Amino acid sequence: MSCVGHVESVCGHIVSSETRPATDLHQLIDQRIEELADQVIEWRHHLHAHPELSNREVNTARFIAEHLHSLGLDEVRTSIAGHGIVGVLHGGKPGDQVIALRADIDALPVKELVDIDFASTVVDDDYPGGPFPVAHACGHDCHTAMLMGAADALVSVREHLAGTILFVFQPAEEGPPLGETGGAAAMDDAQALANPMPTMVFGMHVGPLPNGVVAYRIGNQYAASVIVRIVITGQQVHGSTPWMGKDPLPVAAEIISASAQIYRQVPAYNPVTISFGHIEDQGRFNIIGETVTLLGTVRCSVESDMGDICQRLQQLASHLAQAQGCVAETEFLQHVPAVHNEAKWVHAAIPTLESVVGSQNLVQTAPTLGYDDVSVFVNRYGGLYVLLGVQDAEFKDGAIVPIPGGRGISYNHNPHFYANDDALQTGVRLHAHIAIDHLMGNLRTE
Ligand SMILES: [Zn+2]
Ligand SMILES: [Zn+2]
Repeated sequence: MSCVGHVESVCGHIVSSETRPATDLHQLIDQRIEELADQVIEWRHHLHAHPELSNREVNTARFIAEHLHSLGLDEVRTSIAGHGIVGVLHGGKPGDQVIALRADIDALPVKELVDIDFASTVVDDDYPGGPFPVAHACGHDCHTAMLMGAADALVSVREHLAGTILFVFQPAEEGPPLGETGGAAAMDDAQALANPMPTMVFGMHVGPLPNGVVAYRIGNQYAASVIVRIVITGQQVHGSTPWMGKDPLPVAAEIISASAQIYRQVPAYNPVTISFGHIEDQGRFNIIGETVTLLGTVRCSVESDMGDICQRLQQLASHLAQAQGCVAETEFLQHVPAVHNEAKWVHAAIPTLESVVGSQNLVQTAPTLGYDDVSVFVNRYGGLYVLLGVQDAEFKDGAIVPIPGGRGISYNHNPHFYANDDALQTGVRLHAHIAIDHLMGNLRTE
């Protein structure tokens, strides 16, 4: 996500009419996952203490690849679109189903403020725009460790599996530095999942839901996203004589304020956000700088709104700049499609999800305006995306509230974001059971 936005409310759960039979294979793999529990936590702590920013996941990728090699997978493809990895496991029985289990592996330029003994103290001095403190403030350390655990567990039952499993470790989900390519689209362009092509993709994201709860949504779970960059050019001048130049800074302020009104031009049923999180100015206290650059993001829950909103934002910037004698150039970068869960995939997966967490821990959730570029894979190959709760929260009157005496609720990308270790096992089981059920033919849409 870059990623999870608020998950403020829940809307019940569709209870399946069928339950999935727990087979010997499910029991066997659960036993292996139980044995691996401490190991998965250790991996997660190591990854958490050694976070790397998008497109710089060198040591993270090496750590993952060493593990996958040690498992004796049929193939470990590395250095895909930067530091992407795909592990390939062919089952011991013939089968043409192929599931891709995906984890994102990058961290964020956030200074961690969580009081844990494996907290990150990493600073990346060389990253464009840096130096930046680096932290796994979006939980991708959990995603990586959970998929490493699932790979181990699935290898342990390989002779019982019919079909193929792709373990997809994806870099740069949070967006590569501007001017670089990366992430799911770059992996897909590099044909990372082309051979064999998945018949299902599964991904998940940890977030501030009650520990061990799985949330899903039919339709768009996460929003469509685009980065907006607006460069406003004026004329540099001494701070004491603004009338001798053209000041781009008030224009920047007007654009930020006015953009907050664009939502009124979009149907109110469709959630939209426009946020500017970064401003670069060339001036100082006594210099009115030549240019100001705004960097932000546009999110739309209904993907078809994106073109209209971007056009309005571009017009607004251009006209506000013109009114002050400046020029504004607006660019839209790194388009990420919405994460869309088709009803047929959700319905096919509910028995598996219920069998992993119990129907009482499976909830439908509202759409959020986070994004996840796993959408590139899910849209192309079909599949499912869910949220996994990892915090000390509970449901009360349909809302999610902190548990008294717990660690509270901290949203993704916040310096206080945390994830409970004891939720990891649920994530490993989700990967493993979804994979087994898809390969066994119990989780399919035809
Ligand atoms: Zn994320
Ligand atoms: Zn994120």
